[in-house]
Amino acid sequence: MKPRVLIAGASRGIGLEMAVQYAAEGWHVIAACREPEQARHWLPPTVDLQAMDITQAESIATLAWHLDDAPLDLLIVNAGIYGPDTEHFTAPSDEEFDRVMRTNVLGAMRVIQAFAPNVAAAKGCIVSLTTRMASMAQTTTSAFGLLYRTSKAALNMVSRAAAAEYGPKGAIVVCLHPGWVRTDMGGADATLSVTESVEQMRHVIGSLGPGDNGRFLDQSGRSIEW
Ligand code: NDP
Repeated sequence: MKPRVLIAGASRGIGLEMAVQYAAEGWHVIAACREPEQARHWLPPTVDLQAMDITQAESIATLAWHLDDAPLDLLIVNAGIYGPDTEHFTAPSDEEFDRVMRTNVLGAMRVIQAFAPNVAAAKGCIVSLTTRMASMAQTTTSAFGLLYRTSKAALNMVSRAAAAEYGPKGAIVVCLHPGWVRTDMGGADATLSVTESVEQMRHVIGSLGPGDNGRFLDQSGRSIEW
């Protein structure tokens, strides 16, 4: 049977490239997008396109119901938003806070909770896309992107807690920094193409073992300090 991956947020950027590369390698790819009809135009025809908005609990539940107890070798929690592009320490509005935290934190919690049993059944991996900018240890010189970084620091804790819960059940749970990548979010000046970043991350994901459960890694497989 083909290995199976579910990508949460596969319409653009890193998630789309993950779908393209895993499909080319012969995986059964379940690409979950907010607007699946649009993504159909640029995703390979073999990709199993499904609707899921990670800010909508019913939307996650519908896809979980559809998958039932089908094993998943890999779950990629990729969907994320940047929020206000602040240069200095700037508190967000209530609306901005709710939007970013609901997507990057609550959405990730719900997606992991919904599909972790499928991953554990396959002794598979749960990979959440985070950022080096969320490292407490490395945040010493600037407060830019305050809300985004705060949300990703919270996501890191979500990933650690999921590692504690689902590691003993057979899953390997990590959070992964993709590098600085030329996407809508990363911008045109970023150092890595989306192809390079995803190739490197796939290599890291392919070499994960049970001893990696709970780690915070970059796209080269190096540990990032929390
Ligand atoms: P993009 O902004 O290019 O793409 C974001 C993706 O997330 C889109 O597919 C978008 O779908 C999806 N998404 C957003 N909100 C939701 C939602 N509520 N439900 C479902 N899908 C959603 O970002 P990147 O590809 O650059 O980033 C991917 C991940 O990597 C993010 O988590 C980001 O934080 C992280 N990252 C990126 C870096 C970079 O340099 N690019 C660096 C560090 C981390 P839609 O088309 O519907 O909006």
